[in-house]
Amino acid sequence: MPSLQTTVEGNTKLVVPIDSLTSEIPPRNPAFFNPNARVSRDFSIIAYKSYVKNLNEKSMADAFAGVGARAIRTAVEIKELDQVYINDANPIAIDMARESSKLNNIEKKCTFSVNDVCKFLIEHSSKGSRLGMIDLDPFGTPAPYIDCVLRAIKDEGLLSITATDTPVLCGIYPDVCTRRYYGRSMNVEYGNEIGLRLLLGLISMVASRLELGIKPLFVHSIRNYLRVYVRVNVGSRYAESMPSKLGYIHHCFSCSSRTYTNQTDHHKICDICNKPMRFAGPLWIEKIFDPDFIDEMLYSINDCNVDKKCYKILSLAREETNMPPTYFSIDKISERMKATPPTMSTMIDRLQSSGFSATRTSLRFTGFKTNAKYNEILDLFRTLVA
Ligand SMILES: [Zn+2]
Repeated sequence: MPSLQTTVEGNTKLVVPIDSLTSEIPPRNPAFFNPNARVSRDFSIIAYKSYVKNLNEKSMADAFAGVGARAIRTAVEIKELDQVYINDANPIAIDMARESSKLNNIEKKCTFSVNDVCKFLIEHSSKGSRLGMIDLDPFGTPAPYIDCVLRAIKDEGLLSITATDTPVLCGIYPDVCTRRYYGRSMNVEYGNEIGLRLLLGLISMVASRLELGIKPLFVHSIRNYLRVYVRVNVGSRYAESMPSKLGYIHHCFSCSSRTYTNQTDHHKICDICNKPMRFAGPLWIEKIFDPDFIDEMLYSINDCNVDKKCYKILSLAREETNMPPTYFSIDKISERMKATPPTMSTMIDRLQSSGFSATRTSLRFTGFKTNAKYNEILDLFRTLVA
């Protein structure tokens, strides 16, 4: 066994490698634990707590469990769950997860396995052995595992999936993105929203091939983690609806205007400055936040021991549920206009009092969403900084 230490996260004691608490970048060997991903795990606890009551089969699996931080927390903090499956290919990591389960007296509800992730998921792919909730949190891209994870989830189950190949999804490597996610990314200030929509796009495309449909419930983007929570439904009716949820986002790199469409049109011209626009997609163009589920999460948060940031992010997400895709950023606009940025609330008030809908966004601290066009936003911005 490597040098270990016990740390507490939420209401759970976790056995982790000492190095992962002291190094700036947590080492992958002998086992990986990232203390900075706490907020991401906090959101899992809130989401699973909100979702578990919908499940007949109260099971959760962490397919890339590592030392089990998310899975052990889930087993301890979601009392309603009957069974938590904790899998990783690294036996040292699973030994630590087992130690943590003993420390928290939850061995009985945990099933441990040391297996390749797809082999583990295939074992849960036949009728009767599928799972209620599955988390997929690989190093880098989840793209190679989407088929396996969709086959292992029950009808009306919940999938949570992480992607950390952010340079690919957020537009630094659009060609790599096309082959991994079947859609092109774009390097713009709202690149993380495009990345989340590309990930949802891939999941929905694979789902429809497997006679399944998905519904996004919640997404977040914290540091280099892009995460999505989706409900999965079995049936051709759901699968058939998937293509209509996909589309493209067009961006004008000359004037920063953007539009979205569910039509394939790669030669769009900007209606503000007449320059050719560039596109991202195909990607998920429909809603990425479900207002009812976020209300549930805001309710459940009272029973969860989580970071204060979670409430703030959920409240922002609740506001933006009905807003169109893509956000604007007040610092980017100020940079372009060579002006000191007004406060977010001043900008939003001005948009609303001019008859537009406008909200902040949970995806960027200095971002806002509105149905105003870019030139209309600039006109209002000028009146604020004049
Ligand atoms: Zn333009």
